[in-house]
Amino acid sequence: MPKFKTLLSIASALMLLKQAHAKDLNPPLVETTLDSKKSTKLNTKKNTTDTPITDEKTDILTPAKFIPAGGTAFLTKQADIDLFTKGKNIGNVKNNPKLSYRRLVQRTMMPTEERPFYGSTLTFDDQLVGDNPSSGNAIDIVNDLAPLKARSIFFANVPMVSGKNINYILAKNKTSEKRLQETRKLLESKRAELIKLTRNLIKIKLPADDNGNAEYACEVFNHTAFHQNMSQLKVGSDRYKICIMGIEFIEECLDEAYLKERPGWDRARYFRFPFLHAPKYAATKAALNETFTKLGLISLGETQDSKDFDNYSHKVAYASMIAAKENRRYNPKFGKYGRTDKPIALFHTKTWPKIKRGIIKAIKEK
Ligand SMILES: [Zn+2]
Repeated sequence: MPKFKTLLSIASALMLLKQAHAKDLNPPLVETTLDSKKSTKLNTKKNTTDTPITDEKTDILTPAKFIPAGGTAFLTKQADIDLFTKGKNIGNVKNNPKLSYRRLVQRTMMPTEERPFYGSTLTFDDQLVGDNPSSGNAIDIVNDLAPLKARSIFFANVPMVSGKNINYILAKNKTSEKRLQETRKLLESKRAELIKLTRNLIKIKLPADDNGNAEYACEVFNHTAFHQNMSQLKVGSDRYKICIMGIEFIEECLDEAYLKERPGWDRARYFRFPFLHAPKYAATKAALNETFTKLGLISLGETQDSKDFDNYSHKVAYASMIAAKENRRYNPKFGKYGRTDKPIALFHTKTWPKIKRGIIKAIKEK
């Protein structure tokens, strides 16, 4: 018993010593009264060259667990603040969290993406695999950009289908039931392929940093199944139902791919309207807003548009990225315009072979 007591008192003495020692090592915290703030400011101004700044917290923090960018680990903390909270600058969205159809408003920020060293987040729309040998493929983009430590963000459609398939199904089948059945059949025939394509992309990582931490090289998000122009959609119509079925189908495939490739990963959910066209009609907007809310989808627009799909120009793609570095938005018609804090560059997977020179050049120019 006495032995134990001695041990205890030695332990507490040691603890006291440690505390005292820690106190010596840690400089006293500067009180944050107005006066001390003022004097600190003056001091640092006078002695910037030889006096270390003493009023910063010097606790050694245990390194936090590395969480790669792109998941909702960031989104849950920030989305409500950055995207839906009153009082925050939320880009081109009116400053009102109760704004109707708020999930449909095309925001120009991705809370899950840090602004990269090359200025703008790189997004690539449409099918992950080109429909002819000269078209770009998502996997080529990732393989070209990952060694440069650049992340590729894809907005995908279902492979090898388009609005033409919908027109055909609608013409061939006269009842809603049959039309939806045929659409379902077509989508299901593509499920395995889309999941496989996505898995092959989202498993790729960027080169690791000095601590061995590596970011994922890309993410895949939703661009509808059939790339329908949604501006004229009427809620309740077969075209609308087909469109929703396709959006839900993509989400299912992405869920499956992420579950398999990144178990435990809480993925972010973004959506981009084909042609950037949101629906016109109020009833459609209201219904779609509900679907987006249910699926957790956030609609993403762009700040840098090089019209790469039309002009295939690496020079314009380059110009759009250089504008981003200067916090300017860009489009080929007006050149630089407006301001942006977190530029989002919009390109197309298909045009990669034609535009990549410009994009890689912009990334390499630090
Ligand atoms: Zn598109």
